Amino acid sequence: MAGSGAPLQRVGMFGGAFDPPHTAHRALALAALEQLRLDALHVMPTGQAWHKARTLSPAHHRIAMCERAFGDLPRARIDRRETERLGPSYTADTLAELRAEYPQATLYLVLGADQLLAFKSWVRWEEVLSLATLAVANRPTDIGAQALRGDAPLIDLSRVDLPFVPLRMPLQHISATALRAKLAADPAEGPPLDLLVPDAVASYISQHHLYQTAS
Ligand code: ATP
Repeated sequence: MAGSGAPLQRVGMFGGAFDPPHTAHRALALAALEQLRLDALHVMPTGQAWHKARTLSPAHHRIAMCERAFGDLPRARIDRRETERLGPSYTADTLAELRAEYPQATLYLVLGADQLLAFKSWVRWEEVLSLATLAVANRPTDIGAQALRGDAPLIDLSRVDLPFVPLRMPLQHISATALRAKLAADPAEGPPLDLLVPDAVASYISQHHLYQTAS
């Protein structure tokens, strides 16, 4: 951590629906904090008006689960601003705000490889690139409902013509979509829940009866 009052030098943003946050998200946050030597990592749950068609779980649940998933990571902070923004919320706007808050810092945008492949479909992606360095962890090709099967190959990033710094982390065969499907169908089926979400997230999910129906 930078000394008291000293401007932060290296600041990351890690956005996601986090519906729910899972162990791959936590591993990615840890990899970013350590490998980019971040002074701060803003974990940024997205608002409802996001590009995904599915209606997300209410923001207060996703924020509470993020607090449980990332709260103990040094220098990580759960940032609610996108969930509080009225109307559509874009990464370019959030990064511009972070740039104003940390005028001297290098900004990093932390992503999984699937998001890098989709990056040029993002609103004002060129602006995002001008504001932040992309930091990317690889991920298996199977990102949807089948992700827990564990046999899909890696996403091929060799043809990506965007600048990014790679983050190293053990490959994680897990997606929130597959987790929700497992919870709605048969929580006992497939890998045990405690390997897929941090314990405190598992307790929160069961306490609040989340993901009991398919979505
Ligand atoms: P969903 O299945 O609902 O699309 P998700 O598991 O992809 O969710 P998000 O909240 O959309 O989770 O992802 C937030 C960020 O974490 C994205 O940049 C995504 O690429 C990354 N991420 C998610 N799962 C993994 C994983 N298994 N390995 C590497 N990165 C991941």
